[in-house]
Amino acid sequence: MYAERVLSGMRPTGSLHLGHYHGVLKNWVRLQDEYPCLFFVADWHALTTQYDDPQGIVNSSWEMVIDWLAAGVDPARAILFIQSQVPEHAELHLLLSMMTPLGWLERVPTYKDQQEKLENKDLSTYGFLGYPLLQSADILIYRADKVPVGEDQVPHIEFSRELARRFNHLYGREAGFADRAIEAVRKLGSKRARRYEELRRAYQQQGEQAAIERAHALLDEVHDLSHVDRERLCGYLEGTGKMILVEPAALLTEASRMPGLDGQKMSKSYGNTITLREDAASVTHKLRRMPTDPARIRRTDPGDPARCPVWQLHQVYSDESCQAWVQAGCRSAGIGCLECKQPVIDGILREQAPMRERAQPFLDDPKLVREIIADGNSKARHLARETMRDVRQAMGLDYH
Ligand code: SF4
Repeated sequence: MYAERVLSGMRPTGSLHLGHYHGVLKNWVRLQDEYPCLFFVADWHALTTQYDDPQGIVNSSWEMVIDWLAAGVDPARAILFIQSQVPEHAELHLLLSMMTPLGWLERVPTYKDQQEKLENKDLSTYGFLGYPLLQSADILIYRADKVPVGEDQVPHIEFSRELARRFNHLYGREAGFADRAIEAVRKLGSKRARRYEELRRAYQQQGEQAAIERAHALLDEVHDLSHVDRERLCGYLEGTGKMILVEPAALLTEASRMPGLDGQKMSKSYGNTITLREDAASVTHKLRRMPTDPARIRRTDPGDPARCPVWQLHQVYSDESCQAWVQAGCRSAGIGCLECKQPVIDGILREQAPMRERAQPFLDDPKLVREIIADGNSKARHLARETMRDVRQAMGLDYH
């Protein structure tokens, strides 16, 4: 059994926009209070589609980390790091590639989808095909049991689970496993050992799921058990051998409904974004120029909020009474569109104000961001090395 841990990464895309804030960062800020979290810049992932144009990746990474910090991601509560600065990810990716059936990669639904979407790019590369495998290595190397994802990413998590299972099945059976496990059972003391054996039988012979949970609780009570013995006892309990890699679970997050300036989903590729720290004049200008219900040509024409992208923003930023004011005022032509947009402008500026404030010290002194990331890289490396030590040992690659 390993500690609970959340892992989430983002490709470096430069300045983040409010869609990122509502879709991902708000969730990270909440998660960092609930679990030990690792958040990383997925710079190698950027290369899977951007291999021919890597120049901006480093600057985009620093910009993005400032946005994380601006949004309230706290390096005192979460580990922030850069994927390429923990080369163990690449080693695990390579070792996993030895046992990953090609068909598993080809079946990942996003593989074909993305290839079709980015048809102007040659993506018949190994890097692109192996991208879910790299993603699995990112997760498995930290033994992260929780990965926040949207519905569309669930197959990737399932892929990681299958890989972990396959790895544990292939390499989790150390020589003399049963003898070592029996030896570990003895270390529980006679009363607990008897109880453990009863629970093991209840699970293995009668398939009682609850017996597993009770046995895990029993092992939790034993504080002087070594990490290795604990793992052996968990594996012996379930008949799987030693659990070296942890099967992650998807922590389903609601898809962001953050609309862009044209009513479509906010996205850099649609050119309809407001960035996290965009200055007030630019935000005001963009909002004032936003299209509205096309039927409201003159101020005196009544409109329908359902046909207006500004209304979608009201649903994010305005309270009930303001929304009622919009509905009534729009339908009766009682309010003008500029008047209607003002509460949204105010709401966005209010949301951005603390972000600008939090970002300022990092903009004044970029060394601070470098230090936060250096510290995070070193903490992440420490965790990754622990896993790699067990992985190498299990695969017979321990030369010490
Ligand atoms: S009044 Fe508001 S909701 Fe109605 S069309 Fe104008 S901006 Fe859109």
